[in-house]
Amino acid sequence: MNVTFFGVRGSTPCSCDRNARYGGNTSSVVVEAAGSPPILLDLGTGVRFYGESLPPTRPLHAVALVTHLHWDHVQGLPFFSPVLRPGSSLQVYAPDPGCGLTLEEAFAQSMRPPYFPVPLSDLRGDIRFHAVDSGHFSVGEVEVTVAVVPHNGPTLGFRLDWRGRSIAFIPDHQQPLDGGRDIAPAVVELAQGVDLLIHDAQYTQDEFRQKRDWGHSTVEYAVEVGLAAKAGMLALFHHDPTHDDGTIDRLTADARAARGCRPLEVLAAHEGLTVALADQPVASSA
Ligand SMILES: [Zn+2]
Ligand SMILES: [Zn+2]
Repeated sequence: MNVTFFGVRGSTPCSCDRNARYGGNTSSVVVEAAGSPPILLDLGTGVRFYGESLPPTRPLHAVALVTHLHWDHVQGLPFFSPVLRPGSSLQVYAPDPGCGLTLEEAFAQSMRPPYFPVPLSDLRGDIRFHAVDSGHFSVGEVEVTVAVVPHNGPTLGFRLDWRGRSIAFIPDHQQPLDGGRDIAPAVVELAQGVDLLIHDAQYTQDEFRQKRDWGHSTVEYAVEVGLAAKAGMLALFHHDPTHDDGTIDRLTADARAARGCRPLEVLAAHEGLTVALADQPVASSA
């Protein structure tokens, strides 16, 4: 199972020289696993570059697991070239948006004049929407687990299990408002024992004090989640758009200091990074 980061930023795209090493595109991670169609984790602006990496004429059949409908998690959809072509298909799983709208209506409302010139219905690929909130389903050989995660508005986290390996994707996660370290049981369950936890790490401690109810976590809280869940590796993700490369380097060092000598590998996700997880067949009892 290969996990490739195409967008690692939160809130808004912010490409510039100061953050060129980590990248400026918003939330987009692609999981490629034998026996499963490609799984797109979020549809932020980074997904455009995944589309460009594919053969330009071949139809794509893929599944998108979208944590929520904030701009930074969906704005790449109309720029994802495979869904502009007939013959491609995309199954989109995301939370029920509420507000009296179906999931398809919510996507359609974000893609219509005067906000965007091309309506969702004009995309020539076959795009289907599925509202989910908790539970399990299969995408080929990948078992997907869904749970609700604290954030602003309906938001999900996803866990993917494949041939003995696992990842959890929790890009937007509200740390307790008092700065405490309590963790929602559903979040710990989602990330329990995963090989790779991709987690919100937007704020420094100072920034959290100023923006405590904006829906995000400090790097130290991301480490707490990784340790509580006994994850193998933590990828700091959803970097703040104001954080340049040097700031993310420092935050990564802060996260490693917070971990101390406890067993959790910590890295900061950057565009172009691929984490490869080889399958671990479960020994047969037969
Ligand atoms: Zn976000
Ligand atoms: Zn959000």
